[in-house]
Amino acid sequence: MDKQFFAGKNVLVMGLGRFGGGVDAAKFAAGAGAKITITDLASEEELSNSIKQLEEFPDIEYHLGSHDAADFKQADIIVVNPAVPPDNQYLQLARQHRKLITSQIGIFFQLCPATIIGVTGANGKSTTTALTAHLLKNASKGNVWLSGNIGNEPLLTITDQISSDDLVVLELSSFQIEQLAQIPKAPNVALLTNLTPNHLDRYGTFANYCAAKENIFKFQKPDSPPAVSIFNAEDEIAAKWFEKYKKDTDRICIKFSADDVSEEIRDNFSLPGRANLSNLAAALCIAKHFGVEDKQIIKSLPKFKALPHRLEFVAEIKGVKWYNDSKATTPQSAITAIEAFDQPIIIIAGGYDKHTPFDEFGQKMAEKVKAAILLGQTAQKIADTITAKPTKTQVEIVNSLAEAVELAKQLAANGDVVLLSPACASYDMFDNYEQRGKEFCGLVRENNG
Ligand code: ADP
Repeated sequence: MDKQFFAGKNVLVMGLGRFGGGVDAAKFAAGAGAKITITDLASEEELSNSIKQLEEFPDIEYHLGSHDAADFKQADIIVVNPAVPPDNQYLQLARQHRKLITSQIGIFFQLCPATIIGVTGANGKSTTTALTAHLLKNASKGNVWLSGNIGNEPLLTITDQISSDDLVVLELSSFQIEQLAQIPKAPNVALLTNLTPNHLDRYGTFANYCAAKENIFKFQKPDSPPAVSIFNAEDEIAAKWFEKYKKDTDRICIKFSADDVSEEIRDNFSLPGRANLSNLAAALCIAKHFGVEDKQIIKSLPKFKALPHRLEFVAEIKGVKWYNDSKATTPQSAITAIEAFDQPIIIIAGGYDKHTPFDEFGQKMAEKVKAAILLGQTAQKIADTITAKPTKTQVEIVNSLAEAVELAKQLAANGDVVLLSPACASYDMFDNYEQRGKEFCGLVRENNG
């Protein structure tokens, strides 16, 4: 497949949401001379941001609010958003009509001339991917590209600029790995950060979710240079996979642990907590594989700052350090955040109710947190888990983020950490976790001068 393949074809882009590459795929195929139709269950209003980005292509047709079987019968090529399950009825119809069903990530793997490094896992993907790209800028290869499931970076629309000497670092979701498995393709260098239950609404069981992730290793090709498979030694499943794949003589297998990071490197790394040390150990494996030396790592590491909304340092005001961890939308990630600090913590948590159990999170706060300021739909539920047993943790329920920040300011003493780590999604009060995080950062700076 090359770009010319799309010229004159009827391309149906299924899914134009913020994530999943619909805009990028439409721009790429339109630029290649295809006739584009875009279909999505969401309305024109809901997709207005994405549609705006495609204004330069007035010939694109939009069939929004529902799917139309005729579109799937007429298209030559269907580019599917990773969020669409493979057993979707319209995709089944397209298969019956022998249509070419592909994806943004699938097309990229067929077009990209460079070495591809793929990072996946339940947690720490974005941080590890960004850190890897940051460190690889020291490698003697060509340009380093960062894309995939991280933010909303272009992918297909940059393929023309990528050369065979470059390195492409991609964050890959389990859904994207599933799409690659259908071709079948996998990155030259594949890394798994860790595995804990996630996306069970789509996969049914944890075993199915793990199987989808394992395809990142399963479909690596014993090319020259050989495939590289990297596993977290501290993760039960990853450690098992290391033992399994190291028997394969066609590939290089490496394992990493947070304990591997030398003191000198650790001293130059500003992200808090052992989980981030694990992400660093992962990125170091890749950087070292591509010949980056310790002295280069030590020089460039201090310039790496936490990604926005992921244990992001906001400010130090009157001896109190404020952190924005709005991306922590599960109890497990908020527990990780609490474990990252030795100082007394005032946590701001709560939000949209996904009906996840909070018992472990509540227990952790009862043991380790000075005060918990709770808001949103889950506030009372979380409060009950903290006070289930006698505890010294002060528990307060507030009505808004502004109130939470104001109260945290009053409760915090010199040397404390104030941490927004909600353990919940944000949809009850905000558009998304980014809006919640931005509002928090604004309030911290504004309320504290
Ligand atoms: P992902 O892309 O997998 O969602 P991120 O790097 O965006 O991961 O981090 C999301 C949240 O998960 C962060 O707020 C942080 O608290 C937590 N986290 C980061 N790295 C890890 C890790 N290695 N293990 C467990 N939790 C982590």
